[in-house]
Amino acid sequence: MLATTYRRPYRVSARHVPDPVIEHPFDAIVRVLRSCICGSDLHLYHGLVPDTRVGSIFGHEFVGEVVDVGSGVRNLKVGDRVLVPFNIFCGTCYFCQRELYSNCHNVNPEATAVGGIYGYSHTTGGYDGGQAEYVRVPFADIGPTMIPPDIHIEDAVLLTDVVPTGYQAAEMGDIRENDTVVVFGAGPIGLLAARSAWLMGAGRVIVVDHVDYRLDFARRFAHCETVDFRSVGDMAIHIKKMTDGLGADVCIDAVGCEASGSVMQRVTGVTMKLQAGAATVLHWAINSVRKGGNVSIVGVYGPTFNAVPIGNAINKGLTLRMNQASVKRHLPRLIEHIQAGRLNPREIITHRVPLEEVSDAHEMFSGKKDQCIKTVLIPPG
Ligand code: NAD
Ligand code: ZN
Ligand code: ZN
Repeated sequence: MLATTYRRPYRVSARHVPDPVIEHPFDAIVRVLRSCICGSDLHLYHGLVPDTRVGSIFGHEFVGEVVDVGSGVRNLKVGDRVLVPFNIFCGTCYFCQRELYSNCHNVNPEATAVGGIYGYSHTTGGYDGGQAEYVRVPFADIGPTMIPPDIHIEDAVLLTDVVPTGYQAAEMGDIRENDTVVVFGAGPIGLLAARSAWLMGAGRVIVVDHVDYRLDFARRFAHCETVDFRSVGDMAIHIKKMTDGLGADVCIDAVGCEASGSVMQRVTGVTMKLQAGAATVLHWAINSVRKGGNVSIVGVYGPTFNAVPIGNAINKGLTLRMNQASVKRHLPRLIEHIQAGRLNPREIITHRVPLEEVSDAHEMFSGKKDQCIKTVLIPPG
């Protein structure tokens, strides 16, 4: 089959590799119908995630049709069309029982923190991903969710990560009626966090970025105010001026680390480059929120990243919440929002690209944020 394989930093290619097979009675094999490139893939692509092995298959956002099931699978059958949350989880451990699916204990036993993720390096379990024609889905009775007939396939693929992640970002902000919410980052996650903030009763939503195209997009898609950080001196002062001197009630970090800077960090023995600006976002979020406010972090950082101004956070009495999203927990509510027309996620898709062209698609998503929001990959056939 054809699959997106990692070659080296800034280089992936579509290559022919062996088809996946059932390895365990609870596995299924899914023929991929659509997959996406995610901002998280860029951390792999930029060489920031330790233990990203040459030849590993990217892709944690995919939907498809079940073509084979292991002998233990009860809830799925050949022909079912499913969306597959990016988390791999067992459904029964201490963490899964508390719906912390992204922290499942049984899928990545060597890690102390993160659970299993498709196509996201050996740091998250070494599972191959769905930017491919076929993918092996472990715990097939647990994660995959049937795609309702009235849900468009492009909305379904966005339900595997960006919609629930944006929603959880807003949820972790514990938004109250009429709150002012500042979202850093106008990528897919920030856009969906902004839309979710409205659903949770925000009175004002402000999105911060530095790419005109994305700021325009945010105003149209998320009906928000925007701040171009290139034109701002001190972010905290700017946000305070916008909020009667108090600061925002909630700040959301939907940026995480990017590869554009030169901060070096040792992570599990691997030297990683981290974006100088990444520290900036956390500082901005903590300094721009009002005293007693909430900071929600869904932007992804290296495991030992430590540039958090914790003293300011303590002195202001802030609540900080963060996690990888637990996709499955949010699906029923989000499917309802889409069915009722309150969310229209597929409007963020700007590019539909054949899987064969995945190398160029990564290059564009990485380097041309002024032309693209979300790219969907279409496998051959
Ligand atoms: P993206 O790369 O498309 O968007 C990031 C945006 O942030 C870009 O528009 C960029 O211009 C902007 N940006 C860069 N520096 C900034 C700054 N200092 N202030 C404000 N904006 C800034 O990525 P995405 O797909 O939207 O993902 C965003 C983050 O969320 C990534 O770190 C990704 O890994 C993470 N993520 C987390 C989860 C989770 O479960 N926690 C899931 C998916 C993605
Ligand atoms: Zn993703
Ligand atoms: Zn579990």
